[in-house]
Amino acid sequence: MNLVETAQAIRNKELSAVDAVRQSLDAIARHDGKYRAFVQVDGDRALSRAREVDEALGRGAPVGPLAGVPVGIKDNMCTRFGRTTCASRILHNFEAPYDAHAVERLERAGAIIVGKTNLDEFAMGSSTENSSVQQTLNPWDPRRVPGGSSGGSATAVALGMVPGALGSDTGGSIRQPASFCGVVGLKPTYGRVSRHGLVAFASSLDQIGPLARTAADAALLLSVIAGYDPRDSTSVDEQVPEYEAGLDRPLRGLRIGIAPEYFSEGLDDPVRSAVEAALDVYRKHGAVVSEIRLPHTRYAIACYYLVATAEASSNLARYDGVHYGHRTEGIDDVIELYSASRRDGFGPEVKRRIMLGTYALSSGYYDAYYLKALKVRTLLRRDFERAFETVDVIASPVAPTTAFALGEKTDNPLAMYLADVYTTSVNLAGVPGISIPCGFDGAGLPVGLQLIGPPFAEDTLLAAAHQFQLVTDHHTRAAV
Ligand code: GLN
Repeated sequence: MNLVETAQAIRNKELSAVDAVRQSLDAIARHDGKYRAFVQVDGDRALSRAREVDEALGRGAPVGPLAGVPVGIKDNMCTRFGRTTCASRILHNFEAPYDAHAVERLERAGAIIVGKTNLDEFAMGSSTENSSVQQTLNPWDPRRVPGGSSGGSATAVALGMVPGALGSDTGGSIRQPASFCGVVGLKPTYGRVSRHGLVAFASSLDQIGPLARTAADAALLLSVIAGYDPRDSTSVDEQVPEYEAGLDRPLRGLRIGIAPEYFSEGLDDPVRSAVEAALDVYRKHGAVVSEIRLPHTRYAIACYYLVATAEASSNLARYDGVHYGHRTEGIDDVIELYSASRRDGFGPEVKRRIMLGTYALSSGYYDAYYLKALKVRTLLRRDFERAFETVDVIASPVAPTTAFALGEKTDNPLAMYLADVYTTSVNLAGVPGISIPCGFDGAGLPVGLQLIGPPFAEDTLLAAAHQFQLVTDHHTRAAV
């Protein structure tokens, strides 16, 4: 059962919350020894909360829209229970004193968190290979990566361990693993979901969003987590539309833009074909596809890896062996304590980014790199603003390839970064993007279609995705 069906069955008392959680824990027991999506599972806590839901339902007390529904949370979101590790050695023993806003909202809506999911350390990566905890395997082929950095959440959903999960997306980390694992992933507009309690990677780009099997599931999750939160000064005080009610909006007349910059060299043929076939489906159902231009796309990767690393170098300064987490023992000098704790606590990719970002911000280089990147960022945003004067959504691939092999790009960080070519502009511009399954390559690996919208057009994206899923069955194929 998908998330909407699970929620309905529990509300109609065809399924108890306890049984829903048991099914989730059973699936985890069956698959997670091999696929390793979860870094932490708390079955006892989940079952006891499920009993409370069942009891409330039994009493006829009002329950939230996600009552009894098991979910997974990416382990860079604070939870009062258990640990919040960011898959980093430096936070391996960190116990958050509060819940992230999104976590709080999920629980208030009755959702039951069964555990925390694996990620690239501090969400830096595209394959979950940078986790210091474990390697998550792709549900469709265990020799391949699940994508990243929300690889644990995408894998957990694809294997039916949970019907929905939260991820975070700074440059593609919800959409790309969703695409590699054959599930739906939505990165909301910057400010749509509060970042309170999301461990910061690059604060001007980070956004929390849902992963699930269907667009309708993602709509339900988003409707619960979206909304203003005074504890995040960048969260936007703007009405949250009724995403589920809006799903019925027909495709007829929907104006879809395609940019040649997103179908350039380096795009694998099977991905191109699947995306083109998806566009045909849209045309057949009355959407109008036309060409637009996003001329600054070729600067997106360079711009992203300056802005993101600059912000990361600043955000990660707080891990000093004193305030949080790991402290290297037996050192008297405070400066030496900082360096030793950071040396032992951070993995190689995190260190690389701190160095890149520190360099880009340092005096003499600030103007040449960071400031210039900010200017390019404005140009990228204007590209989208101009495009959305004539189209409702932009369609593109999510990634140039399907899931790549474990280890294939670990020795070549630049190759890993280049794979983010279709996702990073969306974060730099602050606009929403969704990834939906749109086909398979010759090896049976899922391909994702990305739909990008103007600010706060999540309703348009979800409706366009839902209508596609009504007439296609890619999202119903099971990985195992
Ligand atoms: N792959 C990108 C990176 O490594 C995006 C990560 C993310 O969105 N958290 O930075």
